[in-house]
Amino acid sequence: MKIIGVIGGMSWVSSAEYYKLMNEMVEDRLGGLHSAKILMYSIEFGEFSEEEREASEGDWKPLRNTMIDAAERLERGGADFIIICSNTMHSSADDIEAKVKIPVLHIADATGEKIRTRGFKTVGLLGTEYTMEEDFYRKRLEERFGIKVIIPDEAECEMINTIIFDELCAEIISDDSRRKFIEIIRRLKEKGAEGIILGCTEIPFLVSQEDVEIPLFDTMTIHAEAAVKYALDDE
Ligand code: GLU
Repeated sequence: MKIIGVIGGMSWVSSAEYYKLMNEMVEDRLGGLHSAKILMYSIEFGEFSEEEREASEGDWKPLRNTMIDAAERLERGGADFIIICSNTMHSSADDIEAKVKIPVLHIADATGEKIRTRGFKTVGLLGTEYTMEEDFYRKRLEERFGIKVIIPDEAECEMINTIIFDELCAEIISDDSRRKFIEIIRRLKEKGAEGIILGCTEIPFLVSQEDVEIPLFDTMTIHAEAAVKYALDDE
């Protein structure tokens, strides 16, 4: 079984869920008391949020250095590959891959594969403003998987971002925010989305498949599944 190197802590709430899911998935596959081999570097989210703010103002260096430092620690510790427990921070995936010899299992690739198996051509994307608006995520889905990605309008993107950072990352789950997300999902469906990517690892705490009819792609679970598959296959 390969050792999964996990860059977590953005937020620790979703990383804890990743940890639980990956262990449960290995137990399901191997039975008995089996569990995953995990090496986790959990970033300090307070310091990290400050670096994210600096990045949003144009200075990406501190944030990138933190991500590369985390990856190098995992490589030194003996991890066989890396997963980043955040959609947003996959913006640093290429920088990390340039610095370490072990592979990064990309969350958008795992999600793209899953969408492809459903045969969907157009999906809606919910996530941080950065994930929704920048190229690093959408372009990958479009170029590698031929999937058209549509996003909410500007005011909705801003509202989603605020809910992620002010509520979900702080473990605040509100019915009012859930209603807002459901309404945004409804509008994306009207614009042609056949499925919705929950492209932020905290969104599954707020919205689940029972809340809407349109198929949801929970990137945290999909990514955890891909990591376990990669860790266990080719043994
Ligand atoms: N965990 C989040 C994600 O999946 C965002 C939180 C952050 O950027 O720190 O994008």
